[in-house]
Amino acid sequence: MAFPNVKAYYQAAVLTSLLSHLIKDKQPQWVVMENRAIRLFQVPNLLWLHKKNRPTTPTMPSQLALALQVWETHRTHFETGCPLSMATPIEAITYCIPTFHATPWKEKGITHLSHVCEAGKLMDFTRLRAIYDIPQTSQYSHIPLKSLLGKQSKVRMPDHRDPVEISAWEKIRISGKTSPKFKPLSDCYKVLQTYTPLHKSPQAANWHLDLETKVPEGTWKHIISSTRKLIKSAPLLEQHQKTLYRWYMVPTRIHKQYPHSSPLCWRCTQEQEQGTVMHIWWRCPQLARFWKKVHKLIKRATNTDINFEPATFLLLNFPNVAPAHKMKLICHVLLTAQKLIARSWKYTKAPNIQTLIQEIDKQLIYETYFIKTHPRPQRFLGTWELWHS
Ligand SMILES: [Zn+2]
Repeated sequence: MAFPNVKAYYQAAVLTSLLSHLIKDKQPQWVVMENRAIRLFQVPNLLWLHKKNRPTTPTMPSQLALALQVWETHRTHFETGCPLSMATPIEAITYCIPTFHATPWKEKGITHLSHVCEAGKLMDFTRLRAIYDIPQTSQYSHIPLKSLLGKQSKVRMPDHRDPVEISAWEKIRISGKTSPKFKPLSDCYKVLQTYTPLHKSPQAANWHLDLETKVPEGTWKHIISSTRKLIKSAPLLEQHQKTLYRWYMVPTRIHKQYPHSSPLCWRCTQEQEQGTVMHIWWRCPQLARFWKKVHKLIKRATNTDINFEPATFLLLNFPNVAPAHKMKLICHVLLTAQKLIARSWKYTKAPNIQTLIQEIDKQLIYETYFIKTHPRPQRFLGTWELWHS
């Protein structure tokens, strides 16, 4: 039985409240009150704007502020256009381009960005004039809009979306109506439970840059699925996810957010090395000795010589170098080593190999309980026999 994701359900409920602002007919009384509270601004206008372009509204009710905050986190799931959604009201463009005059466009029936785009592309001014008969002076608004939407006047879409696809939310905004099949709470909840696959995430692109090689899409999937098959320990799986998704804040990343903080490594303070992800996790001289000992330990315990490189030690990318029971022990050792590095975060000394051995011995206690309750314990015994020997 699948347990409900309470957080996603709560966020879906908050987002559903925003939907009431998008529907033109039968707006509940609280929507009218919220709109009155923010005076000059309309929620649909604020919604599709990016945070930096959104005007400040000091009288915003706290419930609406919360809904906009949740929306900001998850908006990429509900909108298709980039940098602007197709559902962006034409008057909202004024917040992005202060010289944009929306009135002549609205007078001719252009209410949303979708009206001036064809197949995800902004129409030429001549075509716009032919269709909507907008005045010649509107060309001064068309030029900056073209520039805003991209050099080729193409509305860029996230790579996994069809260029002309419009989300259900955008359809509602453009038409102002909901279809009977649309169930806002269930649909929102379903969308929030999906996540971006690692191979399409910015973290994967950063790993490609750091490792100076491209990890193929299939390899990312293999790394995740094979580790899940081999490791049953939740803390170790969590460690693997955190490393893959670059969860840890390294000095260079903190320095970008807080310029007063030092971007240098906290371990090798004499060398004045930049604290990048690769340095903190792999290249730091203080850590090099630890990783070499981990490599030796794996070789001694499993009689397998895995490549001494960051893709193997950090991402666990070593496809089928040994039988499954040996692979399982290798994964345990590597993830425990990563866990110890994370545990000694900001310490000047790197963890030592003795602590690693003690930590794996501790895990063995839990593994023993797991094996005892498993219907086929012989599948797991080989791994821990290797460790004892
Ligand atoms: Zn260092």
